[in-house]
Amino acid sequence: MDAFVRDDNDDSRDAVTGLIGRDGARRRLAQWLGRGEQVHGLVVGLRRFDAVNMAYGAAVGDAALAEVAARLKHFAGDELEGGWIAARSGGGQFLLLTSEPCSRERWQVAAAQLLDALARPIACAGTTVRLSPRGALLRGLGGESADSMLDRLGQALSSVMAHPGRRVLWADGEATRAGRSAAQLESDLLRAIDGNEIEVVYQPQFGCLDDRLVGGEALARWNHPQLGRIGAGALFAIAERADHVAQLSRHIARLALSGARTWPMDLRLSLNVTPSDLAQGDFAGDFAALAESTGFPAWRLTLEVTEQVLLADAAHAAQVLGRLTARGMRVALDDFGAGFCNFRYLKLLPLHYLKLDRSMIDGIAGDLRDLAVLRAIIAMAGALELKVIAEGVESEAQRALVGAEGCASYQGFLRAQPLSAEDFVALAEAR
Ligand code: C2E
Ligand code: CA
Ligand code: CA
Repeated sequence: MDAFVRDDNDDSRDAVTGLIGRDGARRRLAQWLGRGEQVHGLVVGLRRFDAVNMAYGAAVGDAALAEVAARLKHFAGDELEGGWIAARSGGGQFLLLTSEPCSRERWQVAAAQLLDALARPIACAGTTVRLSPRGALLRGLGGESADSMLDRLGQALSSVMAHPGRRVLWADGEATRAGRSAAQLESDLLRAIDGNEIEVVYQPQFGCLDDRLVGGEALARWNHPQLGRIGAGALFAIAERADHVAQLSRHIARLALSGARTWPMDLRLSLNVTPSDLAQGDFAGDFAALAESTGFPAWRLTLEVTEQVLLADAAHAAQVLGRLTARGMRVALDDFGAGFCNFRYLKLLPLHYLKLDRSMIDGIAGDLRDLAVLRAIIAMAGALELKVIAEGVESEAQRALVGAEGCASYQGFLRAQPLSAEDFVALAEAR
């Protein structure tokens, strides 16, 4: 179960999760510290993970660990803007290190959010596993060695694992008092929506044939006055807890639509829509009226929904989206390939695009089976007359492959990170 293979960086990778191990993490951490980087660390332990192995067998245990690793990487990719290292530091133990400049409070919010993500049920091999993750946090001291940081994290994790009532602990012994309480964050959010703290950034999307800019996806950021910048994942998690998703979504939609009004006429705007948005009273009517009031034409809008809308009430979601497509808007099925897609549902929704999750793009340049899966999905999309958008394109090799295989457009760090409204307009005008 703990087999390791060598990779090109000479760090061993765990065969179950694909992550580097503790030694590899220590080596990379030492390099950061040598360069004088300020490092924040989080070690996650899974309580009673042995019981999962005992109850369900090692194959299910391994699948759960692989899912934890995938969620960890997904989280780091989405939430951290600086460098990060994810590792499996022991049986049921994972390590996340970042060199992103961040406050203590911000790191604690991020940790809580990651633990929430890891605690969500994991479906594998026909059963559902629930893990109970615990975390220890640390902020590197000036001049501290990698070994000392990892030791302090390990000790703090042992104490938090021994306390049934506690979820996270700082390695410097301080309890969680530095953090903002959930209630505080929720009231902060209301202030943020009324005030000026929510920002919309736009990630450019490019055509695969000619690499021309074809549009942008609106992504939300929260510029919190005390905690600094909070990513979309944490923002929506807080909104969800406070039951303010609809209000937040509406605010973001208004900002995004107004921001995109001055874009050149051939550019499309993509907006993310959550299941709770679609479940709102008259979402179709309200949203269409909002779009109209901003002057952004409906036919240039793409709504991105995930399979989760289908879990709630598929027929209702299809009906609401149908009313919006009747006005000329288009719909993309987002994060395709990240979950457990039920292909039957593809027929149910009024779709125009399949947007491939970045986990589907990750391996295509190095693994023939990943490429075969991509090919099959694109063929299926073609048969359903759906255009394919590739997400998370990070290398030239991936870009060349998604183009050659027939994706219509792509977005990813290779060509552009999400940009501020001004930078996006500058890019559009410089074409
Ligand atoms: P998503 O809709 O799948 O958005 C794409 C996410 O992938 C963005 O993260 C983007 O920064 C990131 N990304 C883009 N290219 C690459 C790449 O090449 N490599 C890697 N590793 N990541 C890449 P972001 O902005 O943190 O958003 C995370 C998720 O939060 C989004 O996933 C979306 O589900 C949700 N979200 C973001 N903004 C909004 C919003 O305004 N409304 C709603 N409802 N959801 C939002
Ligand atoms: Ca999206
Ligand atoms: Ca996506």
